[in-house]
Amino acid sequence: MNKRTGREKKTLLAMMRIYCRNKHKGGNALCSECIELLDYAYKRIDGCVLGDKKTTCARCAIHCFKSEYRMRIRKVMRHAGPRLIFKHPVLTVYHMLDSQKK
Ligand SMILES: [Zn+2]
Repeated sequence: MNKRTGREKKTLLAMMRIYCRNKHKGGNALCSECIELLDYAYKRIDGCVLGDKKTTCARCAIHCFKSEYRMRIRKVMRHAGPRLIFKHPVLTVYHMLDSQKK
């Protein structure tokens, strides 16, 4: 696992936690639905052919996430993205920098 994908996973987990807590009344642990989605996303990140050169999945997911999962991930990001900056400002800045990469 390289630094880029490690960071992406951390960001994703943080977003899923916010989303699940607000939308599914989840506690600190994610509900089974969110765990399944996270697991899928992790596998895509690990299997990503672009490796360290990839941008964030919000952009690159278009090519490797199945449409059902892509829609679910988008919902999570739309909901949690703006909230993430208050909870994890450092992660958010990295995430924004990463997504600027081509
Ligand atoms: Zn959930």
